[in-house]
Formats: sequence, structure tokens, C-alpha cells
Amino acid sequence: MATDVFIGIGSNLENPLQQVLTAFEALKAIPESELQGVSRLYRSTPIGPAGQPDYVNAAAWLQTRLAPEALLDQLQAIELAHGRVRTIHWGPRTLDLDILLFGDLVLDTPRLHVPHRELTRRNFVLYPLADLAPALVLPDGRSLQSLLEGCPPEGLSVISDPTANPDDLV
Ligand code: ATP
Ligand code: MG
Ligand code: MG
Repeated sequence: MATDVFIGIGSNLENPLQQVLTAFEALKAIPESELQGVSRLYRSTPIGPAGQPDYVNAAAWLQTRLAPEALLDQLQAIELAHGRVRTIHWGPRTLDLDILLFGDLVLDTPRLHVPHRELTRRNFVLYPLADLAPALVLPDGRSLQSLLEGCPPEGLSVISDPTANPDDLV
């Protein structure tokens, strides 16, 4: 049986817009899985260490028959293929792919925490998620709409037409 999974995508290095668009393509190629949709693209002010470039963020909806850890393997392989180097925590990166939700699963292992720990606090995750599944309810019963009410879109903007002027955008 396939599980609905939501993935958070972020990039703020080496043409972030292109990184996110090619990440969509890579997500389509994950085995045992089908990409159901992608959100609009957003620009956000970075969290973490100061002085980083703005991020491009998006979310993707996947149906998968993979186990959670096997999906994480696939996502980390895509990050590596995009030149991700893990240096400082929350530092700049070419591509970050996080499992936001894995069906109704609640998991807390050293390698994988689902729902994603920061999901409910990050506007650059909640707003893209709302593009894909506005009626979403978390495993703990909280609705996405109620989380959005507590998380204003400060520092977040929609990239209206990514194909119009790609060089302008990031
Ligand atoms: P944050 O998790 O706050 O967004 P980050 O995405 O920058 O930070 P990473 O360096 O990408 O963090 O990942 C660090 C570790 O987090 C990974 O090696 C992975 O094992 C673990 N991890 C735990 N839960 C998740 C999850 N839901 N999705 C992706 N990675 C996770
Ligand atoms: Mg992350
Ligand atoms: Mg990550």
C-alpha cells in the first residue's frame, strides 16, 4: 500500500531556483514512488547563521511504497548528487530534502524524526504544504490551517513566474 508523504525542499546556494526545479525531476525518479504534485516556489529569509543568501523553498507530495528509512536514503542520495556538503548546522546548502510527514506515522529514531521537528514553526514549510494539501491534519490532530494562523508569512514571498526571469530571482 502506498503512503502519502510530504517533502520539504530548500536551497540557497549555486542557483537555488535551478536546484529546486531539478530536485522535482529527481523526486519523480525515486523507485516505488509517484510524484503527485509540487507547490509553488517561495523565497525566504534564512534561519540559522547570519549572512546567508535567501532560500528558495517548495514542497512535494509523493506516494511511496518505500519504508521511511529507505525514502530518507533516496533523498540523501539526491542531496549528495546536488553537491550537498554538510558543514555548519543550518548553514547554507545546495539542496535540503526533509521528510515533513509520512502518512500518519509518528517516528523518533536517531536518524529520522517524523513529523519533522520544525514543521509546525516554519512558515517556509507550512505555506508550500498548504498549496498541496490545504485540508491536511497532522497525526496529533492539529490542522494545517490552525498552524498557519499561528505562523505569519514574514520574510516569505511567492516566486510568481520562475520561468520569466530566472536570473532576477535568486
Ligand atoms: P532541519 O532538520 O532543522 O531542517 P537540516 O535539514 O539542515 O535541519 P540536515 O543536515 O539536512 O538537517 O539533516 C541532519 C539529519 O537529520 C539527517 O542526517 C537525518 O538523519 C536527520 N533527520 C531526522 N529527521 C529527519 C526528517 N524528517 N527528514 C530528513 N532528515 C531527518
Ligand atoms: Mg531542513
Ligand atoms: Mg535536512
